[in-house]
Amino acid sequence: MRKRAVVQAARPYRVGRDVKAGCATCFGDRAQWFGGQAQGTAAQHHDKTGHETWVEVSMHITYGGTPRAAAPRPVSPAAAAGFVGLPPKAGSR
Ligand SMILES: [Zn+2]
Repeated sequence: MRKRAVVQAARPYRVGRDVKAGCATCFGDRAQWFGGQAQGTAAQHHDKTGHETWVEVSMHITYGGTPRAAAPRPVSPAAAAGFVGLPPKAGSR
């Protein structure tokens, strides 16, 4: 059987992830923990208290374009670290 060649396009892209978590008992559906530590904190809070905790993860992928300039809202270090892909070319818009 012949293997197909995998063609990878060299398209620039960015991936961002937002993670938030909370405890249904302590905070209801209001998020209390954000960023890269949110899931672990929710798990540990459940282990310590037995409370029902939740984690919500959303992912944003952008192909092409230019990186967002000033973000309208604060970007967590985890979200910033989640940006991968080809860096923007110098002088390109
Ligand atoms: Zn709790």
